[in-house]
Amino acid sequence: MISKKLEILSAFKCQGSGNCCRVEGFVRIKQDNLEQMAAIKGMSPMEFKATYVVMDRGWMTIASPRHRPLCFLTEDNKCEVYEGRPKACRSYPDWPEIWESDDSLMLELAVCPGLRAAYHEVVG
Ligand code: SF4
Repeated sequence: MISKKLEILSAFKCQGSGNCCRVEGFVRIKQDNLEQMAAIKGMSPMEFKATYVVMDRGWMTIASPRHRPLCFLTEDNKCEVYEGRPKACRSYPDWPEIWESDDSLMLELAVCPGLRAAYHEVVG
């Protein structure tokens, strides 16, 4: 129901499942994220980079399927670096790949309970 995207997004409320962080993918960060995350972890930016960051195709990357697949997700589904999380994490579920077709949206509904609830609230 792509035509209802804006209504569904405005009805969306995160339910804290952490599932969007568990999806296999690459989490890229910029310098400002690096500095904020380092401060949250009580580390210098250099120390943070040496500990958590790998370079992948020129991007600073804090999670990937082979390197830290759970990123900074804790056992109780909290992001340890929430205040410094990158733009892609902040904009979920407003990602182009989710809204490119009804099929892609249906797949994401299976991942995210908050999106599923918003979808049913708007679409029925
Ligand atoms: S930075 Fe935080 S919100 Fe983003 S994927 Fe990692 S654990 Fe999840």
